[in-house]
Amino acid sequence: MFIFDTKLWSKKIADPFWYFDVPDVIRELKSLHDQDRSEYENEKEKIYDFFEEQLSLSNIALGSQGEDFDRERKPIDTIIIHHTSNLPGLSKDRLSAIELVRLYAPQFAGSGPTYDANKEIKGAPIYSGHWRDGVQVFWPYHWVIRSDGTCERLLNDDEIGWQAGNWDINCRSIAICIDDDHENTVPDAKILKVIAGLIKKNYPQVPKDRIFGHCEINKKTTCPSKLFLSTQDKRGWKDDLVGLL
Ligand SMILES: [Zn+2]
Repeated sequence: MFIFDTKLWSKKIADPFWYFDVPDVIRELKSLHDQDRSEYENEKEKIYDFFEEQLSLSNIALGSQGEDFDRERKPIDTIIIHHTSNLPGLSKDRLSAIELVRLYAPQFAGSGPTYDANKEIKGAPIYSGHWRDGVQVFWPYHWVIRSDGTCERLLNDDEIGWQAGNWDINCRSIAICIDDDHENTVPDAKILKVIAGLIKKNYPQVPKDRIFGHCEINKKTTCPSKLFLSTQDKRGWKDDLVGLL
């Protein structure tokens, strides 16, 4: 059975190329998901606990400089809707740790889908170029919508979120993420109202037909919900959201 060895990884993360072993960890975790769901949840929490703690202690070797990805930022004409697919209350630090492992590590190891494959970053120390109080963050979203309706700012609008699985879309979009698991549920009307208000206030230039769910850009995901898009016999909550704009 797969067990994440925190002792071994405590040594590993001091090397700037620690992340080359992350795709293997993700692969093993995935196969555990299909074998034993509760064991999978345990291991997943252990891995993210580890990286969150080590990030907070500045123990992980990262690049202090690197490619300026945000220079490719384009005028914002697109909104992408996500959900965290976690229980509500995901902290900013936890999100940063999760995306360092899930997004940035595979990308720098050469197997990630997000950054344009023609622009080679494989083998460089991991670098997001996004700093908060001297600490590098790995957030993919610009906004998180909390269950109480609070809109929490993560990335600034001039920063590119590695979120849609498509570099061109990333360059021109804002990512809004609901802090909940909506795989099989519809968000409260209150939450949809908050998102519509956020878009109207901050991004009035975005046309209604440029508001997408993550699943519309990347067909491999169901994010933000299996109920997001309308089908022949059921109205999806995307139409409810767009109807509020
Ligand atoms: Zn998503």
